Amino acid sequence: MSEIIESVSERLQAVQARISDAARVAGRAPGSIRLIAVSKTFPADDIAALLAAGQRDFGESYLQEAEAKIETLGDAGVVWHFIGPIQSNKTRAIAEHFDWVHSIERTKIAERLATQRPARLPPLDVCLQVNVSGEATKSGVSPDDVPALARAIKALDRLRLRGLMAIPEPTDDIGLQRARFRLLRELRDRIAAEVGPLDTLSMGMSDDLESAIAEGATMVRVGRALFGNRPRAA
Ligand SMILES: *Cc1c(COP(=O)(O)O)cnc(C)c1O
Repeated sequence: MSEIIESVSERLQAVQARISDAARVAGRAPGSIRLIAVSKTFPADDIAALLAAGQRDFGESYLQEAEAKIETLGDAGVVWHFIGPIQSNKTRAIAEHFDWVHSIERTKIAERLATQRPARLPPLDVCLQVNVSGEATKSGVSPDDVPALARAIKALDRLRLRGLMAIPEPTDDIGLQRARFRLLRELRDRIAAEVGPLDTLSMGMSDDLESAIAEGATMVRVGRALFGNRPRAA
């Protein structure tokens, strides 16, 4: 266990250094970028190790797996982010256990989350997931459909629309990485002009966080660079 703690906290420092360096290059304050540790497929012990090292925000993609970890960790002060695909029959548990949802693609899912958000909790912070890679990927709404979905979510009291999220198709081409992240930022700016301020751009992962930060990411979602390679494809 102590070995795990050591290597996890070293990796956390390395990722924080990457974020600070990228922020400096972009002329941004490092504190304006929030690190979400994507713990999907990794055990609660690994989360506990990162928590001990000071990390607070964690992202999960699979509800059942996440629920078990949330139960194990109890009141440890984690801020939980749901970042995976959402089926209708999972919305209640997501509304009850998570602080953020980054992966909203449909009005119906948003309405269910709003209705099911418990009254004792603050409104659920949400982002719309946008497909910025065209035909190459299927998840996320197309940029053309974002305004209507944003307006629908704005009308829901128990959700707080914070911004946009994207998972671009992986590429080593830095120019292409930046073009897709820029598309998300420009879309955010256009929507915000219509529905009011949107402070969140959830974009950038282990391999492309520098490009995302250069284009204005306020949240980066990092898995492998913190926890190591995932045991199974996910
Ligand atoms: C898995 C995942 C990540 C983290 O990806 P890494 O390449 O491991 O950093 C980020 N966002 C989402 C939505 C994911 O599913």
